[in-house]
Amino acid sequence: MNIVLLGPPGAGKGTQAKRIEEKFGLVQLSTGDMLRAAVASGSEIGLKAKAIMEAGQLVPDEVVIALIADRIGRPDAKRGFILDGFPRTTKQAEALDAMLAEKGIKLDHVIEMKVDDALLVDRIAGRYTCAKCGAGYHERNQKPKTEGVCDVCGSTEFKRRADDNAETVSKRLAAYHAQTAPILPYYRARGALKSVDGMAPIDSVTSALSAILAGKPAAAGASKAPKAPKAKRKPKSPAKARPKAKARSKAKGSRAKVPAKKAKRVTKKAVRRVKRPAASVRGKVPRKAAKALGKRRPAARRK
Ligand code: ADP
Ligand code: ADP
Ligand code: ZN
Repeated sequence: MNIVLLGPPGAGKGTQAKRIEEKFGLVQLSTGDMLRAAVASGSEIGLKAKAIMEAGQLVPDEVVIALIADRIGRPDAKRGFILDGFPRTTKQAEALDAMLAEKGIKLDHVIEMKVDDALLVDRIAGRYTCAKCGAGYHERNQKPKTEGVCDVCGSTEFKRRADDNAETVSKRLAAYHAQTAPILPYYRARGALKSVDGMAPIDSVTSALSAILAGKPAAAGASKAPKAPKAKRKPKSPAKARPKAKARSKAKGSRAKVPAKKAKRVTKKAVRRVKRPAASVRGKVPRKAAKALGKRRPAARRK
């Protein structure tokens, strides 16, 4: 089973992808995680992506397309994958179609997680993860069972993403609306899009998603996105529908001991964490991706 999870930053894609991964035996493919690993490793891609991500912009299409093309081709993806954070532009959606067609793979579900912008800011401002195992938490919504101790691995060190600050969040949201939301009609027009209420509690969202994946009738919180009204005009091709918008970003791991409760805005002060990336990512950056980044002058000012 192959799935795409769509939704704005902070919608809960990563949280749910991890749960579905375990429940359905799939592998989560997060372009955000791949890029953060590249940043942490100090690779050529990472060095260039860093400024773009910190500015709340999108990394160039060619870079993420090359990352995904490489990752989808690996053996573990054959049992099924959850794409989290990709595609994010119509160009990426088209490239995904092309690479899947070439490999004879089909998408089983494209699911949008709907959450209001006002809530997203709080989700992102309160987000932190275990520095050791990457388990995700939230200051109020998803605390570890024992304060300051990771439920999964027992570590007491946590970190926040450098792009999870108010200034960058608004840029990332703007980028989502300008560049990513336009791909919803792309999937809706094919009748492939379903949606869940991402504002519901975490467990309810998992249930709604699980029902869709298990092919059960929509449970509370899940709804099939209405099909595009029969348009008089032909739906714009994704290429034409591409917005002019600028971008967004986030990323990098800033390490901070987050004493959960008092874990206030540590982001800025946080010491950067240089972590050796997972072997699955290390040194595997496709040359094409590195080249694409090399050509780009990051719009962001470096801090
Ligand atoms: P995304 O991957 O879409 O950017 P995350 O899964 O990282 O989003 O979730 C963002 C933050 O919101 C995390 O701190 C997570 O614990 C919290 N969160 C996720 N889903 C929910 C939910 N349904 N209700 C409340 N908080 C949530
Ligand atoms: P979130 O779900 O919270 O927005 P991600 O972890 O998916 O965060 O992405 C972090 C950052 O990495 C993005 O803001 C962007 O700069 C970059 N990025 C991730 N995925 C893509 C993508 N598919 N296309 C372009 N940039 C991406
Ligand atoms: Zn942990």
